[in-house]
Amino acid sequence: MTCALVLHGGAGARPGRNYAAQRADMERLARQGQAWLAAGRSALDVVTETVAALEASGLYVAGRGSGPTTEGAFELDASVMDGATGRAGAVAAMTGIVHPVRAARTVLEDGRHVLLAGDGARAMAVAAGLATVDDPDAYYTEHAAHGSGEAAGHGTVGAVARDRHGALAAATSTGGTFGKRPGRVGDTPLIGAGTWADARVAVSCTGLGEAFIRTMAAHDVAARMRHGRQPLDAAARDVLADVARQGGDGGLIAVDAEGRIAMPWNSDGMKRAAVIGDGPVTVRIFEPEPD
Ligand code: ASP
Repeated sequence: MTCALVLHGGAGARPGRNYAAQRADMERLARQGQAWLAAGRSALDVVTETVAALEASGLYVAGRGSGPTTEGAFELDASVMDGATGRAGAVAAMTGIVHPVRAARTVLEDGRHVLLAGDGARAMAVAAGLATVDDPDAYYTEHAAHGSGEAAGHGTVGAVARDRHGALAAATSTGGTFGKRPGRVGDTPLIGAGTWADARVAVSCTGLGEAFIRTMAAHDVAARMRHGRQPLDAAARDVLADVARQGGDGGLIAVDAEGRIAMPWNSDGMKRAAVIGDGPVTVRIFEPEPD
C-alpha cells in the first residue's frame, strides 16, 4: 500500500518574511518520515515523532517556539489520534514539558482518559519520564525570532500519515494564539476540532482555534466523507469555508484511506510539506497547490 505523509508548520505565515529555515526543516522532516514509513513504522509513530521534531526546532509556534500568555506563562496544547483503533490522547494548557505531543501520546497509550489539562497533564508526563523544561524563560526564546508576536498572531505544527498497512493517524501541537489569556484552550487538543483520524481520513488543523472549535472542523471533514460521500478535497475545502464563515482563517492537512492528500488554506500562507510513496517531497508556503 502507498504510504503518505503531510506535515504543517502553521497557517500564520506572513508574506515578506524569510522562511528559508522552515522550508529546509520541513523538507528534511518529510524525507525522514518517508523513510520511516518505508521501513514499516506505524502512522501513529511517524506523526508523533514528526511533530516532536517540529516542536524541538523552535521554528514554529509550538514547543520551543511557543509564545507566552498575557501573564507570561507558556501553556501548550497537543493531541494525537490513531485512526486504526480510535484511540486518542491530548494535553491542554500544559506547562513545563519539552514535547507536548509525547505527553499526548502517553495519555493515548494509558487509555483511561483522552484529555488531561494543566498540572494533571504535566504530572502524568513527568511520571512517564518525559523531558521537562526547568527554566521556561531560557528555553522558550525563539518566538520573537520567527514572528510569534502581533505580526504572526498564531501558529501550530501537525502531521498526518498513512502507513504501509493503510492505517491513518494525526497529531497536532501548538503554543496557541498570541497574547491568549491564561487557561485559554484552542482547537489543537480537542479531538474532532483540531485533530481527527479514523479508517477513512486523518486531519490536522491550524488557524484561529475558536472558529475550528465552533465548526468541529477536523471531524467535519470525516463526517462529510462518511455521510455526504464527499471526496477528500471537496470535504476539506467546504469545512474551511465554514471556518471562514465563523471568522476564522487557517488551513488543514489531510490524508485519506487511498493515500490522497489535501492541504487547503485561506490565510496568507500555510507552511507545509508532503510526500506520497517514494515520490519527491513538495514544500510550499504561499504557493497554491497545482491543479
Ligand atoms: N489553532 C491554534 C490555536 O488556536 C493556533 C494555530 O493553529 O495557529 O490554538
